[in-house]
Amino acid sequence: MMANPIKIVIAGPRGRMGREAVKMVTHQKHFQMVAVIDKGNDGKKLSEVEPEFHGVDCPIYTDIHTCLKATKPDCLIDLTVPDAAYYHAKSALELNVRPVVGTTGISPDELEDLKTLANEKKLGCIIAPNFAIGAVLMMKFSQMAAKYFSDVEIIELHHDGKLDAPSGTAIKTAEMIHENRELKQQGHPNETEKLTGARGAELYGMHIHSVRLPGLIAHQQVIFGASGETLTIRHDSYDRSSFMTGVKVSVETVMKLDGYVYGLENILD
Ligand code: NAP
Repeated sequence: MMANPIKIVIAGPRGRMGREAVKMVTHQKHFQMVAVIDKGNDGKKLSEVEPEFHGVDCPIYTDIHTCLKATKPDCLIDLTVPDAAYYHAKSALELNVRPVVGTTGISPDELEDLKTLANEKKLGCIIAPNFAIGAVLMMKFSQMAAKYFSDVEIIELHHDGKLDAPSGTAIKTAEMIHENRELKQQGHPNETEKLTGARGAELYGMHIHSVRLPGLIAHQQVIFGASGETLTIRHDSYDRSSFMTGVKVSVETVMKLDGYVYGLENILD
């Protein structure tokens, strides 16, 4: 006998990522999309406002509390903007709904709040700045390399509609590298910037550079340097469908968790 499908609400269904998530969720037999949360169109059906989703007749809500109380989902997928994502995830946890958040740019204090709440309530909660499996491997390989190379620069490249810089993936990569890398202030000790920002942002003595251009989706290269050699580890997402395997695995996994997890790498074997 087939188990009951996982009931899902998607916040941000008309965004670039949200659209892919709607397609992915509606194509899975073991998932059931019970509602979506949008900034407008309260009370309408998704199929009415988005012809692309012909036949997807789930209701649209603008208020998360009303939505979660009325539809009683198991899981909330959030692909919106940082302020809304924090509010949505917090509200979901308060109402015993498990969040899977792909939205980036949530502040460290807000993440800490979500961690405390999820762990107190013993409810699964996954925050993943990058759902692409290849990107997770890029981060893991970079962390491995950092044991042998302490000089590294991270260059992340994204479409020009991205709100936050540097990307959540770049920050997470730097944090993972930091766990294995000998602490080092890179570059010449007397270097000066003739133009502010020329050396990028700095985290744990590593430099992170953000490129924003139309035509790009999500890309990152991590360049390690040592005497006479460099090692470049690069990942490219050419299409937002690349993130959906990670969203699917996260929804399946969050149902089995009893607390907070940050980063897809922590739920993959
Ligand atoms: P997007 O195209 O701008 O979509 C965001 C959507 O959220 C828009 O439809 C927006 O509606 C909606 N929204 C904003 N506030 C809302 C609210 N309070 N309630 C409901 N919906 C709301 O952005 P995107 O490219 O899809 O990216 C979304 C997020 O995912 C970003 O934070 C991005 O960095 C992140 N991202 C994560 C991954 C990952 O793998 N984890 C990959 C790519 C992107 P309006 O247009 O009406 O304002």
